[in-house]
Amino acid sequence: MLSIKNLHAEVEDKKILKGINLDIKPGEVHAIMGPNGSGKSTLSAVLAGRENYTVTEGEVLFEDKDLLDMAPEIRAREGLFLAFQYPVEIPGVSNINFLRTALNEIREYKGLPPMEAKEFLRLTKEKQKLVEFDAKLINRSLNEGFSGGEKKRNEILQLAMLDPKLSILDETDSGLDIDALRIVSGGVNKLRNEHNSFVIITHYQRLLEYIVPDFVHVLYDGRIVKSGTKELALELEERGYDWLKESYPATE
Ligand code: ADP
Ligand code: MG
Ligand code: MG
Repeated sequence: MLSIKNLHAEVEDKKILKGINLDIKPGEVHAIMGPNGSGKSTLSAVLAGRENYTVTEGEVLFEDKDLLDMAPEIRAREGLFLAFQYPVEIPGVSNINFLRTALNEIREYKGLPPMEAKEFLRLTKEKQKLVEFDAKLINRSLNEGFSGGEKKRNEILQLAMLDPKLSILDETDSGLDIDALRIVSGGVNKLRNEHNSFVIITHYQRLLEYIVPDFVHVLYDGRIVKSGTKELALELEERGYDWLKESYPATE
């Protein structure tokens, strides 16, 4: 699904990613953990193709195609989905129209006609139910005035509607109360299957009690310094991250 090889990236001439290697197969859920400032959001931004992030070395293959060569919207149409740590508010664009446009762009890319209105509404209802999305939010402006939990739930609804091959959730758990956390993780658990993959970026082990990952990686100082299974997350919860500073002195 995704193969990252020796990825180096800079933001404003500052080296942030310093040689990331990661392979993700269909059906796998990978958790990326690590202290603040280690480069987790930078990695997701680089994969999504956000502006101002310069890749200086390495390659990323998405289903054997050169991901870094694709424009951000092409990455999305190829089936990459990124849930942001801070979802944007777009006043004047209703949630439902946003979903319809995004869905139909992907269909057009696949050579399919726009989805019929009736089918679109049926699908929306089905997915709203799946992720326990409050129906009255669907006609509101995208994320405008939504609570933190509602925004995160909205991202899971987008995920359910667009059915991406690879989803990257960047700290989807931050700012969630326990109920919202259950709903977000419940949504992911219902959506995961043998064909799609997830990268769950989180600071805390808590989310991983609900979304059980196949692999856990520790990102520190722009590198994956340790990989393991879900037990690694428990170990990190116990040990914290301070030991990393001693084991891996900061590099330029
Ligand atoms: P994490 O998500 O693991 O907390 P980030 O990827 O957000 O870490 O940040 C990694 C480092 O890159 C930090 O030192 C941060 O200050 C820096 N950084 C991230 N984005 C920018 C930016 N737009 N401009 C300057 N520095 C940035
Ligand atoms: Mg952070
Ligand atoms: Mg971050």
